[in-house]
Amino acid sequence: MEFKDDATAFNGAKHAQFADKGRMNQALSVLLMQVLEDAGVPTHFVRQLDEIRTIVKNVEIIKVEVVVRNVAAGSLCQRTWFEEGAPLKEPLVEWFLKDDALGDPMINDDHARAMKLATSEELAFLRSEALRINEVLKPFFLKAGLKLIDFKLEFGRLASDPKTIILADEITPDTCRLWDVESGEKMDKDRFRRDLGNVMESYAEVLKRAEHAVHR
Ligand code: UDP
Repeated sequence: MEFKDDATAFNGAKHAQFADKGRMNQALSVLLMQVLEDAGVPTHFVRQLDEIRTIVKNVEIIKVEVVVRNVAAGSLCQRTWFEEGAPLKEPLVEWFLKDDALGDPMINDDHARAMKLATSEELAFLRSEALRINEVLKPFFLKAGLKLIDFKLEFGRLASDPKTIILADEITPDTCRLWDVESGEKMDKDRFRRDLGNVMESYAEVLKRAEHAVHR
C-alpha cells in the first residue's frame, strides 16, 4: 500500500497535492491500526516498508464503504434534518457503494445483498465491527484532545481465507472528521474541502497528538 501526497474531494472534482501528506497519513494510519490490533481488532497491517509504503495482507475489498457517525456533519446534514454539530444519541452506521463513477451513493442492506456485495451475515459483522472500532477510536482521539465526529472504513476478505473479514484501507484525516475538543476547530480534510487553509498544519497536529496519546 502506498500513501500519496494527492488530495481529492467531491469525487475527484477538486484535486491538489500536499507535500508530506503521504508520510503523515501513513504514520497515523499505522499507529491507529496498531491501537486497534492491541484492542483485539484484526487489521490488514503487516509492517511498514518505508515512510510511505506499508506491507498489508492480501484482501478482496468489500465494495461497501462503512461510515460511522457520532456527531452530524457532511452528507448526513445534506440528506436529513440534522444540523452540523448535532450530537447523535447512538452512533449511526451507513453503507455507501464503493463506486467513484456513481459518486458513492448511499445504499441499504437490501441493495448490498441484491448486488451480491455481501451476505446478511457479513453485513451484520461489518456493522458490529465498525461500532467496536468506534468504541476504541473515540476514547483514543479524546486522549488526543480530538472529537471523532465520523469516519469511513473499508473491509476485505482475506485472499487466503475469504470467510475471514478484516479491516483494510486507511484511517487518516482524509477519512475521518476530527474536531478540536476545546475550540471545535476542524482538523481534517474539511479544511481542504472548504478552503479553510492550514491543511497540512492540521494533519501534522493530529499526528503529533496521536503519537503522544499512545504513550498516555
Ligand atoms: N469519507 C471518505 N471517503 C468517501 C466518503 C466519505 O473517507 O468517499 C469519509 C469522510 O471524510 C467523513 C465520513 O466518511 O469522515 C462521512 O462522509 P460524508 O458521508 O459526510 O460525505 P462527505 O460530505 O464528507 O463527502
